[in-house]
Amino acid sequence: MRADCHMHMILDGVYYRAAIDHQKERPDEALIRARLADYRDAGFAFLRDGGDAWGVGAFAAKIAGEYGIDYRTPIFPIHRNGRYGGFIGRGYDTMEEYAALVAEAKAAGADFIKIMISGLMDFDRFGRITSEPLPPEEIAELIRIAHGEGFRVMAHANGAAIVRAAAEAGVDSVEHGAYLDEEALAAMAEANVVWTPTISTVGNLIGEGRYPDAVLRPLFELQAENIRRFAAMGGMIAPGSDAGAYAVPHARGSMDEYRHLTNILGVGAEARLEAGAREIARRFRRGCRE
Ligand SMILES: [Zn+2]
Repeated sequence: MRADCHMHMILDGVYYRAAIDHQKERPDEALIRARLADYRDAGFAFLRDGGDAWGVGAFAAKIAGEYGIDYRTPIFPIHRNGRYGGFIGRGYDTMEEYAALVAEAKAAGADFIKIMISGLMDFDRFGRITSEPLPPEEIAELIRIAHGEGFRVMAHANGAAIVRAAAEAGVDSVEHGAYLDEEALAAMAEANVVWTPTISTVGNLIGEGRYPDAVLRPLFELQAENIRRFAAMGGMIAPGSDAGAYAVPHARGSMDEYRHLTNILGVGAEARLEAGAREIARRFRRGCRE
């Protein structure tokens, strides 16, 4: 089963603002159908969307079956107001508001809950993550509430401390996971977290000119080394390209993720990625905790 376990139907791989503006009023059905056809033609049978506030991924999920694609959506991703995620998701200020968003996603047919608990890698400065992470107690509460509603939780998380906290709180998948250390990797392996390292978001930028290769290369090497360490611990790794992100086009970028991960993991990569994708498919559907 070829899978992209982390993609964004609303984004275009070029410029997120324009891509979102284009579908803000209503999903562009022709565009979505063309992307689904590209995925199908490239052999993809499973997609997990990160969600958006305008119903684009939710619409894609409704028609993806026509393309032989099993498509999972959180409807929209959830962030704390003022922290990373405001450009694409829905925000909360209080836990009551968060619980109401989870209920709203459930009513809209969400397959799982996606939360944003840290910022992004800064491609201009090695070691820096944009935006402050959420405190561990808050992360635990977000996960507890979603699990209580029968949902698995996909968490956008960068930084060792935050990923360790999420793993210890029972998160079901960690997305990106830049700058992890031995302890964070061990915590993920211990808790059976599936890691989606989205290496294409870095690998596809090298030599591309927008960001300094002097930052990108060590970032790629560190992520590659951590992927190998996690695999050696028996950790589950899923292929997820972040398709729609800059320089990661739909379908083609999803193939890039397989290429990068296969180069990094070497012998046995195919079986390992297949197992990771199957575990994501098994977990990230509605009611699987009930
Ligand atoms: Zn993403």
